[in-house]
Amino acid sequence: MSTDQDLRKQISVRGIAQVENVANIKKDFNRHLHFSLIKDRNVATPRDYFFALADTVRDHLVSRWIRTQQYYYEHDPKRVYYLSLEFYMGRTLSNTMLSLGIQATVDEALYQLGLNIEELEEIEEDAGLGNGGLGRLAACFLDSMATLGIPAYGYGLRYEYGIFKQLIRDGWQVEEPDDWLRFGNPWEKARPEYMLPVNFFGRVVKDENNQSKWIDTTVVFAMPYDTPIPGFRNNIVNSLRLWSAKAENHFHLKFFNDGDYVQAVMDRNLTENITRVLYPNDNIFSGKELRLKQQYFLVAATLQDIIRRFKSSKYGVREAVRIDFDTFPEKVAIQINDTHPSIGIAELMRLLIDVEGLSYDRAWKITVNTFGYTNHTLLPEALERWPVSLLGNMLPRHLEIIYEINQKFLDEVGKKYPKDFDRLRRMSIVEEDGEKRINMAHLAIVGSHVTNGVAALHSRLLVETTFKDFAEFFPGRFQNKTNGITPRRWLMLCNSPLADLITSKIGEAWISDLSKLVELKKFDHDQDFLNSLEEIKGDHKLRVADFIKEEYDITINPNSMYDVHVKRLHEYKRQLLNALHVITLYNRIKADPSAKIVPRTIMFGGKAAPGYHMAKQIIKLINSVATVVNNDPIVGDKLKVVFIENYRVSLAEKITPAADLSEQISTAGTEASGTGNMKFMLNGALTIGTMDGANVEMAEEMGLDNIFIFGMRVEDVNELHAKGYDPKDFISKNKELAQIVEQIDTGFFTPDQPDLLKDVAAALHTNDRFAVCADYESFIKKQDEVSQVYLDRPKWLKMCLHNIASSGKFSTDRTISDYATEIWGITPNEIRLQPPYETPHAEEEKK
Ligand SMILES: *Cc1c(COP(=O)(O)O)cnc(C)c1O
Repeated sequence: MSTDQDLRKQISVRGIAQVENVANIKKDFNRHLHFSLIKDRNVATPRDYFFALADTVRDHLVSRWIRTQQYYYEHDPKRVYYLSLEFYMGRTLSNTMLSLGIQATVDEALYQLGLNIEELEEIEEDAGLGNGGLGRLAACFLDSMATLGIPAYGYGLRYEYGIFKQLIRDGWQVEEPDDWLRFGNPWEKARPEYMLPVNFFGRVVKDENNQSKWIDTTVVFAMPYDTPIPGFRNNIVNSLRLWSAKAENHFHLKFFNDGDYVQAVMDRNLTENITRVLYPNDNIFSGKELRLKQQYFLVAATLQDIIRRFKSSKYGVREAVRIDFDTFPEKVAIQINDTHPSIGIAELMRLLIDVEGLSYDRAWKITVNTFGYTNHTLLPEALERWPVSLLGNMLPRHLEIIYEINQKFLDEVGKKYPKDFDRLRRMSIVEEDGEKRINMAHLAIVGSHVTNGVAALHSRLLVETTFKDFAEFFPGRFQNKTNGITPRRWLMLCNSPLADLITSKIGEAWISDLSKLVELKKFDHDQDFLNSLEEIKGDHKLRVADFIKEEYDITINPNSMYDVHVKRLHEYKRQLLNALHVITLYNRIKADPSAKIVPRTIMFGGKAAPGYHMAKQIIKLINSVATVVNNDPIVGDKLKVVFIENYRVSLAEKITPAADLSEQISTAGTEASGTGNMKFMLNGALTIGTMDGANVEMAEEMGLDNIFIFGMRVEDVNELHAKGYDPKDFISKNKELAQIVEQIDTGFFTPDQPDLLKDVAAALHTNDRFAVCADYESFIKKQDEVSQVYLDRPKWLKMCLHNIASSGKFSTDRTISDYATEIWGITPNEIRLQPPYETPHAEEEKK
């Protein structure tokens, strides 16, 4: 056994089991099985064991949670409120054990009870309250804010149905509802005593003092559910508060005279539909009324909660001073995750003016200094522009306020740029051409003191293109905050062998300071270390091979390169370009079966928005190609194509550590940041990618020798379109590409229905919006280079090491520290909390 392996046994991120604690865990587990699950071991199911275990682990959070919240109340620090329509949390059990450092103890207890902990962990449903990167970012942020001791709260919606379950039937995507709460959620605590009213519809009247009043509204109640968010081994537990819609109790009482009491009770469902389901769109604005209701429901409930907490601060209560709202931005920072919660800007104005009686100008200053806005995309189809008719009907007072904000804003713009009417038109929050709409990004920029992009390139493009006028008008208002991922979930939890190997070399400081990973660079000639890296990767690859055999009955070659393209299905992410590479390899094998090719297993995974025709066609194409390739005896195990069903957080945790090659191939200028790219880098996969989003900064950190960059840069893409891009120019010049477009067009992969994928072919030869054909040749050349380097094992492994060692920048701990100091005005790592005296067994220990 090598030294590394000896060390791995001693130093484990799972910790060391302690005998007395093992006994306590067993006692607690049995107590929960008996008293909470009301089962004995003769009748208990694996799911009962999962819940008993979850309850046992949760108990260890309770005192820490109460004490953290007590500390915030006592010390009244500035709070951060992270508002998001999505929190893509995934599973919670193993993350909680990891944060508390009780994993090894629980492992041992469960082993002694004769139970398989990994099997129980698999029973937990993912909390799929997000679509993709934006929702997962919010979840990683919560982890880092707790770990950095920032007094933070996540605020979102408790969707009864999260992101749909994706099935693949006959090669097509089929959606099933995600009934994730069916068996109960052990991590949430309902707080009916803190329920709050939210108003909709009605009309606005002026009272005797010419003050606006919003009357005749329909009321819906917001019921909070709290979930604990533990920091990493620091005894801090923050809260995620998710709202659920509840119908009013005395609703329509006076109309019951007509006898339809039963109908009235049934109609409560309509109201409660507000939080029924997550909209399954990623980077697409759908403009549905129910979605606007969700957005307002979130911000209306949350702002009441924030103001209540502000007013009830110890200082305010003790000193009995008049509540001074001018200090609000010194106590409250609200960050909005994209424009989805941006109606909150109008809502805070309404509360300050109509409810608290402040002047417009005071209210505006407070609002702007409180809000920060994070932009997540420049794709025009994703920008939220609500029709005035829709917004004005549901939120008439907010529409008035938005008009007033716009009037005053345009007055200022007019002063700076007299007679520049085109500029006024471009910058208006109210769009007048065509159907009148409210541009929510404009509202968010005008109503926040900082707007940030999520990677350096994206932030530069915000300022230079889409929001150029705003950047000129508000110098200093635009910032960059490059996204990140939490190294706890995305390395320690999903890849503990690699985490242990790293710790054995450089200690465990990297877990809360990921920049420490640079220290690994000095091992790039340490053959034992590189062998250990390869061995760990190989183990993960075997596990994924077993998984694919089990799930899809496809036998893959574990020595092949695992080439992985997992993310939401979207044309800008160019899964189609990768499919063209697959077909290229297939055609080459068929043309010359004896040619030496580097074996690959190419894996795709990702959900298409249910209404996104082209994305669904691309899924069908990939599966049709897979069927042909995987069943062709000439191909053998040189090439396999697997579409992994239902890609989600828990599946990402399985796939990422097994990847050799990470596909990050969006058209330059379209992917704001990406975070999948960072997960793969941290787990020692190499990236093939364009100069887009955070890929640019990844390349900068590791050096161009350690990443496979191809394709057009943003400037090239712009030039191409400016010249008038015709994909046929590229197709006619490349024989392999021409053959493939022909094959898709004539139904080579769907011989029973030759016209089936005509739309995909047309998206290549006629309307190639994301320049797939223009980048094809460069992509294929780079893929050929990837294959050659893969054969050079020492070189490949050294590159893996440099990827891992260069990924320190991409921790959300770094991202959140930057938000804290540069946007929120908060110093991280100031709070120190001791472990609670009260463990679940303190009572017994005292006796
Ligand atoms: C990280 C993650 C994403 C984001 O991936 P990108 O490649 O950045 O689009 C999407 N879905 C899941 C489940 C993730 O874990």
